[in-house]
Amino acid sequence: KPELYLVSSCLTGLCTRYDGKTKQDMACLERLKGKIWIPICPEQLGGMPTPREAADICGGDGYDVLCGRARVRTKTGTDVTRQFIRGAEQVLAIARSQPVTAVLLKARSPSCSSTGVCGVTAALLSKHGFKLEEFG
Ligand code: SF4
Repeated sequence: KPELYLVSSCLTGLCTRYDGKTKQDMACLERLKGKIWIPICPEQLGGMPTPREAADICGGDGYDVLCGRARVRTKTGTDVTRQFIRGAEQVLAIARSQPVTAVLLKARSPSCSSTGVCGVTAALLSKHGFKLEEFG
């Protein structure tokens, strides 16, 4: 039975980034060869449009956002914390509904990055024991 993965949509070539572009990643696609995968974009699942204003975590990382110690704001100061948490919860719901081997996530994203400043979705998935891999 082939393994099943969730993967950040933009890594697969879908134009889900804040600027409406893609960050297709050949190493990630190679990793997914022969596997079944489901593309997910937490920021879209959280209800934000594409393109959208770039956003960043202020005052901590994704774990701090989940605990209410930090907020997510766009470049012009709009608070989008609620949307980021909702997107993370939606991805968690998808991950829990399937026998997922690992989640492949985009680096340097306030939602998806799993190293350095951990994003909100990566933090929630990690808290629930999912194996994460980073690309891009
Ligand atoms: Fe969506 Fe994550 Fe890619 Fe950003 S990095 S476009 S939130 S999948």
